[in-house]
Amino acid sequence: MTEPSRQLGMVIDLNKCIGCQTCTIACKQLWTNEEGMEYMWWNIVTTVPGKGTPRGWEQMGGGFDEKGQARTGHLPTVEEFGPAWNFNYDEVFFEGKGPTAQLKPSPEPTWGPNWEEDQGAGEYPNSYYFYLPRLCNHCTRPACLEACPRQAIFKKEENGSVILNEDKCNGYRFCMEACPYKRIYFNPKRFIGQKCILCFPRVDKGVAPGCVRMCPGRARHFGYLDDEGGQVHKLVNVWKVAVPLHPEYGTGPNIYYVPPVLPAALDAEGRPRTDVPRVPKEYLRSLFGPAVDEALKVLNAEWDRTRRGERSELMDLLISRKWHDMLRPFDHNPAQIAT
Ligand code: SF4
Ligand code: SF4
Ligand code: SF4
Repeated sequence: MTEPSRQLGMVIDLNKCIGCQTCTIACKQLWTNEEGMEYMWWNIVTTVPGKGTPRGWEQMGGGFDEKGQARTGHLPTVEEFGPAWNFNYDEVFFEGKGPTAQLKPSPEPTWGPNWEEDQGAGEYPNSYYFYLPRLCNHCTRPACLEACPRQAIFKKEENGSVILNEDKCNGYRFCMEACPYKRIYFNPKRFIGQKCILCFPRVDKGVAPGCVRMCPGRARHFGYLDDEGGQVHKLVNVWKVAVPLHPEYGTGPNIYYVPPVLPAALDAEGRPRTDVPRVPKEYLRSLFGPAVDEALKVLNAEWDRTRRGERSELMDLLISRKWHDMLRPFDHNPAQIAT
């Protein structure tokens, strides 16, 4: 694999994500609305803790062990991702049944993407959950790329995005087994694997990915990791408050998350206990590794600074009053780019 000259990255602030799935639908409308792609959600937002999408993906193996050797991975099935649902549109809209017929999926589904929406974990009043948007991590060492005997997956030299060349793919699905994040889908109509393309037709023209630009929570920052004036670089490398998901999988993910800081837990009388975090630290460590401890410490210290009425550069970055700053240099207006 040729080393790319630069690497794109994304930072998703889990304190600002409202779980609205606008990113999910933006991606669906742009890239996965063709035949054979019905069940694909290259971007999906799930509620955690939970089994996620595909169901139980964190127990499916893949990636690399601590010695850098490839780990065996499970090939996720359509049933584990959650099949696309059919609805009784004909009955509701064309059979004259009025309000007696209601829209419902058929056959009755037993699993789907984001099946566990807003469930979470813990005991009331200290139950908790948060939203975790997931897409391909455009890894520095992509397990999918190493597993493909056809060299159909490559890293773009100029920006490090991981792209699957559909013309070279023979549908072996070794990439699906090898990816520890289970972010590759199989198209049974075309007999090929398909995955997030980091919106390269947009990015090549200076336009941020659809899932980034459409986010109403303004939770996503996008740019080059080595752009010292860019927000991605500042959050990941300078402030170190954005951490990758499951770094122990060994692929060097380039999607980063600002961990959630939920309200303090309550004691038996309903009083806030500022010494006990609502989301157990062990759980956050299991997702983001030990670096999450320092990230939370810095976030809390900077929040305290603003509570005292002082200015915090970090909080200004995370709020991003001028949202175009979150996209530098990919802040072109898609409507003004010639096709
Ligand atoms: Fe979260 Fe933004 Fe996606 Fe909505 S569009 S679910 S706020 S990342
Ligand atoms: Fe490949 Fe999976 Fe990494 Fe994406 S997340 S680059 S599909 S290993
Ligand atoms: Fe979909 Fe583009 Fe976001 Fe990838 S970067 S998940 S292709 S919208």
